[in-house]
Amino acid sequence: MHLLMLGCPGVGKGTQSKLLSEFFNIPHIAPGNILRDLVKKKTKTGKLAEKYIEKGELVPDDILVYIIQDVIHNSNGFILDGYPRNKQQIKFFFEIMRQESRQLTKVILLVADDDIIVERMLKRGRADDTKEVIKNRIEIYKKETLPILEMFPYSKIAIVESVGEEKSIHEEIKSLL
Ligand code: AMP
Repeated sequence: MHLLMLGCPGVGKGTQSKLLSEFFNIPHIAPGNILRDLVKKKTKTGKLAEKYIEKGELVPDDILVYIIQDVIHNSNGFILDGYPRNKQQIKFFFEIMRQESRQLTKVILLVADDDIIVERMLKRGRADDTKEVIKNRIEIYKKETLPILEMFPYSKIAIVESVGEEKSIHEEIKSLL
């Protein structure tokens, strides 16, 4: 099973990916988590990525492509949470899937109103969850990530409203797979 979890920052992608990962016993791969880990470890890539993360900007595409290539190559099925996020990344993604002879199962698109999302993120309180950075991340999502949806066959996209109980959202996602 090869799932993509897409949606605005703060919409609940991490939470729902984790539940699906446990249910289907497939790895949850989140570039955001991988990058934060590299920042913590102060690696060369981490130091470079930090400048973008703290401003809420996307890190350069060439930083992530090797990481994504590596995790896809070494996993048997996945939930990719937060990748691809722009047109260049979706090109890389299709290319890697082709090279690895993998078939995309479904794209899960989580949606919720902006005010709900902002409230959730402010509660989460991550370093990049300040009002200003959140605004930037939502803008980038709308400008760069939303347009990539048209690159998937319509039948592959499952849209789920990410509002209410985590468990019932999880059940709804499963019913669409
Ligand atoms: P997230 O944990 O998904 O909210 O991501 C946190 C930050 O990591 C983002 O604001 C970006 O700076 C970076 N990031 C995560 N995923 C990507 C991606 N696919 N492309 C570029 N940057 C990313």
